[in-house]
Order: sequence, then structure tokens, then C-alpha cells
Amino acid sequence: MDFGIRGKTALVCAASKGLGKGCADALAREGVNLVITARGSEALEATASELRKHGVTVKTVVGDITTAEGREAALKAVGAADILVNNAGGPPPGDFRDWDREAWIKALDANMITPILLIRGLVDGMIQRRFGRIVNITSGAVKNPIPELGLSNGARTGLTGFIAGLARKTVRHNVTINSLLPGPFETDRLRANLEFNAKASGKSVEELRKVRTEANPAGRFGTVEEFGAACAYLCSAHAGFVTGQNLLLDGGAYPGTF
Ligand code: NAP
Repeated sequence: MDFGIRGKTALVCAASKGLGKGCADALAREGVNLVITARGSEALEATASELRKHGVTVKTVVGDITTAEGREAALKAVGAADILVNNAGGPPPGDFRDWDREAWIKALDANMITPILLIRGLVDGMIQRRFGRIVNITSGAVKNPIPELGLSNGARTGLTGFIAGLARKTVRHNVTINSLLPGPFETDRLRANLEFNAKASGKSVEELRKVRTEANPAGRFGTVEEFGAACAYLCSAHAGFVTGQNLLLDGGAYPGTF
């Protein structure tokens, strides 16, 4: 299937590794030119070289996307974007008694306010050109909260509520806004969470990995390629009637009928 987005331009945030990289790779395979960001330049440049093998142009922007300077640099580099993939690192796990106001503001900045400001920077141009696809990488925790990830549960649910309203206003102009809710995907972030839980429970990382993969109906963690493919579909020309949706990719772990 031709996704109909060859030659379009995408800004994919936090894309040197993990889920963001998976999205950038899937878009590059569809012929989308990219601007990718990350704080560290080494992995970012290595990823850009890999992506260029798909025959697309790839610009890199080194910076923290949760800061005003990072966002400004990313928006400047992409110019008139057709596609925006919002992503940033997730907040740390812990106990809510240990989180002060600063910790909450940081989580809100990264996982709620940054995506909203990037949308604000790009959505009107998309509306004018009558094509736009915005995908927010959030978390399965939006639907099924993870107790030790309270900062993530809170901040991402705030973003989801905001998007639910805006997505109904832009779709008339062929600009859709959807979110992808990852369950467990094999990335550095997942490995860090496994290490945190291993320490807290006194079990080994391998033991926890076995327990968690076996508990998942799919019997495994997801791959970044699977995640990227879902992102590319939502960014495709064919997905213009899909907006305000929260697509859970969790191997069936969430037990509800819907
Ligand atoms: P990852 O493997 O740790 O990759 C994170 C990527 O984002 C890296 O390229 C990192 O590069 C970049 N990044 C992080 N913070 C950034 C910032 N402030 N500005 C710019 N770039 C930044 O993480 P992941 O597993 O792909 O997770 C991506 C998002 O999905 C996170 O918010 C995570 O909480 C969420 N999530 C993941 C899972 C999972 O199972 N993997 C499940 C639920 C939710 P630099 O470090 O060089 O900046």
C-alpha cells in the first residue's frame, strides 16, 4: 500500500533512539523528508545516516525539546511541516510524596506543554495547506495508570484531554491529531524501568523481564518497527478520517472489551 506521503516533510522529536526513531524510520521508508531531534548529537547523527539510506533528506537538531530554545530550533529547521510526531523522554518513576512542585512542572513541560506548543507552532500552516498529520507518543498509562509512573500518568492525561478537543476542530481542514499509547516496547527506556523495578523488588532484571513478557497476552514486548508502522499509518494520506483517537499498542495487555 502506498501511504501517499512521499515528498512530505516531518518533524519527529526525540528520535535518535527508541520509539521516536521507529517512527522516523517508518516515515523515511514512505519517502518523507525528516527533521529529527535529540539532546545527544552522537546517536542523532548515527540515526540520521541510517535514515538517509532510504533516499530522503534528514536534518538534525541537537537540543532539549522541552525547552524554549530546543523547540524554536526544531520549528526553524522544519519550516512548513506536513507531519509532526511529538515525543520526549518520560518522567522518572517514584513515589508521589517525593515529588515537589518543580518535579511536576518538569513533567508537565515535557509531556504536556511541549507537544501543545509545537502543535501551536505548526498547525495553522497545516490548515492553510490542507494537509497535516500530528501524532503524539504518550503511554498506555493514559488508559491504564502505572502506579510508580504518577508524573507520566498525570501529565500525559492532561495532554490527551486537550487533544480530544483540538482534534475535532482541525480535521475539517484535513489536519488530524491522534496519539499512540505504547505498552511495553523494547527500548532503553523500558530497560531503565526494568532496572528500577528490579532494584525495588530485589529481583533480577532477567527474572522481571520473564515475568512481564509471560504476563503479556502476546508473550513478548513490542518492537520499535511495529510502533513506527502504526505511526506511519496515522500520518498517511488514508488516515484523514481518523482524529482524536488514542491507539493502544500493548499486545492485548489492557483487559477491557474496548
Ligand atoms: P528511549 O529509548 O529512552 O529514547 C528516547 C529518545 O528521546 C532518545 O532519542 C533521546 O535522545 C530522546 N530524548 C529524550 N528526552 C529528550 C528531550 N528532552 N529532548 C529531545 N530528545 C529527547 O525512550 P522510548 O522508550 O523510545 O520512549 C519514548 C517515549 O515513550 C517516552 O516518553 C516514554 O516514557 C514513552 N513510553 C515508552 C514505553 C516503552 O515501553 N518503551 C512505554 C510507554 C511510554 P537523547 O537522550 O540524546 O536526548
